[in-house]
Formats: sequence, structure tokens, C-alpha cells
Amino acid sequence: MKAAVIHDYGEGFDTIKYEDVQTPVPGTGELLIKVHANAVNHCDTDLRKGLFGVASSMPHVMGVDAVGEVVHVGEGVSQFRPGDRVAPHFMLTCGVCSDCIDGKENLCAHADVLGVTVWGGYAEYLKCGQNHVVRIPDGLSWEDAVAGQVPFATAWEALVEVAKIRLGETVLVTAAGGGVGSAGVQIAKLAGARVIAAAGDDGKLERARELGADEVINYTNENIGDAARALTGGRGVDACLEMIGGDILIQSVDALASGARMASIGAHGGEKIELDFVEFFRKHISVHGCGRSTKAQVERVLALMAEGKLKPVIHKTFGLDEAAAAHEVMESRNFFGRMVLTR
Ligand SMILES: [Zn+2]
Repeated sequence: MKAAVIHDYGEGFDTIKYEDVQTPVPGTGELLIKVHANAVNHCDTDLRKGLFGVASSMPHVMGVDAVGEVVHVGEGVSQFRPGDRVAPHFMLTCGVCSDCIDGKENLCAHADVLGVTVWGGYAEYLKCGQNHVVRIPDGLSWEDAVAGQVPFATAWEALVEVAKIRLGETVLVTAAGGGVGSAGVQIAKLAGARVIAAAGDDGKLERARELGADEVINYTNENIGDAARALTGGRGVDACLEMIGGDILIQSVDALASGARMASIGAHGGEKIELDFVEFFRKHISVHGCGRSTKAQVERVLALMAEGKLKPVIHKTFGLDEAAAAHEVMESRNFFGRMVLTR
């Protein structure tokens, strides 16, 4: 099969080679999936550069999110057959540890990660276990399914499961121009919240408004805490989806109302920060780390996408042989929505 392969880590986009590799053979309980589309994730660009923190054996096929059609089933597969449309979940969980059997599969410490510890979606085919996929509803295109599944499920876990947003609350979403951020804006709006989108670029904020944001804050020239209080009669926000870290996280904690909950899922803007914990006692606020969805959450957001209630945002589609160009756009930060590689 053809795949976009790396033979070593590298800063350069030419680290990615489009070439022939061995087509995977599904083992017991596994599916062979013909990949129809995959999306470029920040994990992929980090992995290419050797910054992901988990070693991959070389040569390696990246790709944490992909969708496709079952073309062959291994021995013992009972739930799927050729022709089924499926989305593999990036966490290939063990299914037997105490977290898995307790319904907290996203905490599984024994999971393989698609496209990281095993070959992923930058290929014509991939294999994974039948218990690691979710069905894609009829009527949802491959491109929309792959563009939406990870960002919407991630934002759902953060906002609905962790921050427990409720009808009528005010929700702040930072990095609202990113994949998870733009998904978070839509989910918070769907949940009946008043949504404040924050980003560092007016163009991205305009797009966030089109996706449902009620108010916007450009944090290149406004302090998030001050602006959020000005927009809420001095009270602050009830919940926050924060994805940047650094000074943006500090300003976002400052924006929280008493009793507010923050879901934190990224820190590219600064991993070590100084926070005054007195604010946490005084205002009864919490910050909760998260970022890994469950298959049930993926299934839920795919259904909402098929109903047209959540709209995936695609910046540009590429061919599988253009993975390097897609990485280049990803690292330019000059985009809104996802880079999708089609077949
Ligand atoms: Zn497990």
C-alpha cells in the first residue's frame, strides 16, 4: 500500500516520504480498514519532530485520526463486516484494566495510541481491533466525519463531562480559532450557554462568531480577565475551555466567576506557570486536566454531526501524497479548521 512514512524524526517537512509499505494483516479480533480520509493533528506534527514524548518504532506511519471502510475481518470478529463505515478511536484501550472495566477507558494506562505506538491513518489501509472503532452514521461524509470526530469528542469531554456546563451559563473558550476551540464554541452553544470566544486574531474571532460565539475577546490587545468581567457585569465566566497555557491560562483563571470550572487540555503557550492558589479557595474554582475522549463520546458527536447540529470545519483538503504540505499549513498557524487528507 501507499503511505506517508517517516524513517526518523525531523523538523523538515521532507521528513515525510510518500512510498510503498507492507499492507497490515488483521489478526484475531481485528479489522482491516480502507482509509478514506485522515486529518492532521497537532500530535502528528509533534511526533514528526520527535516532540511527542512517546517513542515510535521506525519506519512509522503517523495519524491519530482516520475514517474508512472495513474491507477484511480477522478471525473472531463478530460485530463488523466488510462495507461497514467506521472511525477508529485513537486510544486502543486494553479493555481489561480497572479503569477500562470501570467505564473510564480514556484513563487506560495500557492503551496503544493509533499513529503513535502503532501505525495510523496516513496510509491506504490500517488495522485495529473491533472494540476500538465507532460506526459512522449514514449520510455523514468521510471528510466531515474525520474532521469532526476528534475535536468535537475532545471538546465534549472537556465541556460536558468535566466542566459540566449548563443551560444559561457563560462559557469562555480560548484558542477559539483552533480545531478543539471551534468545536467547543459549537458545543457550548448547543448546550444553551452564552459563549465568549477568545483568540489572538480578528479573522479567527469573526469565524468563531459565525459558529455561534456571542462575544469575542482578542487577547493580543485585551486582557482576558478584564474583558470577561466587562462582558458579564463584573461576575466572570461560569466555565472555561482553556487550551493554551502560559499567560493565557493565568488570565483565564482570573476570568472565572465564583464556583467556576476550567477544563485545561493544552499548554503549548507555556507549561510551567505561577498561580495564586488563594484565588482557588476564595472563589471555589477548579481547574481540571482532560483531553482524551471515549468512544461513547465520539459516537454521540458523530450522531450530532449527521443531524447537522455540529458542523465540522475543514480548512483545506489534500491528497495522501501531500501530507508534508498539510503539515506545513498546520505549523504556519494560518488556518481555520482542519487539514484533511483524502484518498
Ligand atoms: Zn485499560
